[in-house]
Amino acid sequence: MSAISYQKVVKNFGAFQALRSLDLALPDRTFLALLGPSGCGKTTALRILAGLEMPSAGKVLIGERDVTRLQPRDRDIAMVFQSYALYPHMTIADNIGYPLWIRNLDSVKRGAKVAEVAKALEIDHLLDRHPRQLSGGQRQRVALARAIVRDPAAFLMDEPLSNLDARLRLSMRGEIKRLCQRLGATTLYVTHDQAEALTMADLIAVMNAGQLQQLATPHEIYERPATRFVATFVGNPPMNILSAAVDESGLHVGGSTVRLDPEQHARCLGAGITEMGIRPEDLRFAEAGSVLTGEIYVIEPMGNETLVDVRLGGERLSVRAQRGFTAAVGSRIGVTFDSTDVCFFDATGSTVVH
Ligand code: ATP
Repeated sequence: MSAISYQKVVKNFGAFQALRSLDLALPDRTFLALLGPSGCGKTTALRILAGLEMPSAGKVLIGERDVTRLQPRDRDIAMVFQSYALYPHMTIADNIGYPLWIRNLDSVKRGAKVAEVAKALEIDHLLDRHPRQLSGGQRQRVALARAIVRDPAAFLMDEPLSNLDARLRLSMRGEIKRLCQRLGATTLYVTHDQAEALTMADLIAVMNAGQLQQLATPHEIYERPATRFVATFVGNPPMNILSAAVDESGLHVGGSTVRLDPEQHARCLGAGITEMGIRPEDLRFAEAGSVLTGEIYVIEPMGNETLVDVRLGGERLSVRAQRGFTAAVGSRIGVTFDSTDVCFFDATGSTVVH
């Protein structure tokens, strides 16, 4: 059963189309990250599910229920916002218990439930305080506690970590993942941060310009991107893209011809390949005069590894080298790769062969 589904959802803001026929189904008890660049329509998709925005066409279902026309409060979902949206004049206990209070749960049961979730999120010592007396990370936990306190059918989270500093973001990332796994909660999590999507999600939906590009596991998104957009959006540094062509003699790239694995070669022939993509970690340095030969442009030691930017005529390659790698800037260097690590794209940007 799909816990959440979007069926041909369109959203127009005047003449601008923010969502262009979005079809997306999220299985029950799954953590799905909606990932894409700023303005691609992620928040609009989430707000439509929450009932904060009406679609121009199409429908949204939670479980078997068509909720397209329901009020937000009747949808049985909980939202966690970037801004936390806590009530400043209420104590933390009252903030967490608020969703139970508006549902008229009696104060004894409410107190017990608030204590239980506060303990689970390790904020039970803060219950008498007010939001202004809490750190950003603590406020985020309160917002999460308020979301889980009443067992909703789904959690919707809109960039919930973006107001935290880098260190806290990392630790909360792990905490939210653990919490969602423990609760077996169906979660739709909006982010533009690929690291959050890759590390937290069971499934990632990559969006661009109001359209779904790919829905797959993080592994699949990284290893078998469906489009050039996904290939270059996910991965840091991004996948290298080079002009390429394939004919009977093999792969033509960077002035060299590379023999392909026969099965791969057969799939590439006649597929209209115009570009190839290769990840920085799948490139190796070799003697000048190997498959690709370029010039070292910049070397960036990162501590645990070294990133090397190589210029090849008008194109550039990012190579992930081991830590301690050194070479003279401007020196010529060879770069090789295994053809089985290459993705091939056609002129429309679709991935033709992985
Ligand atoms: P971000 O990560 O920056 O929040 P997003 O992917 O969540 O981006 P949305 O907020 O869904 O993007 O916005 C998608 C597009 O729709 C944007 O171009 C935005 O300017 C536009 N948009 C969103 N809300 C409105 C509105 N109420 N009126 C007009 N245009 C809107």
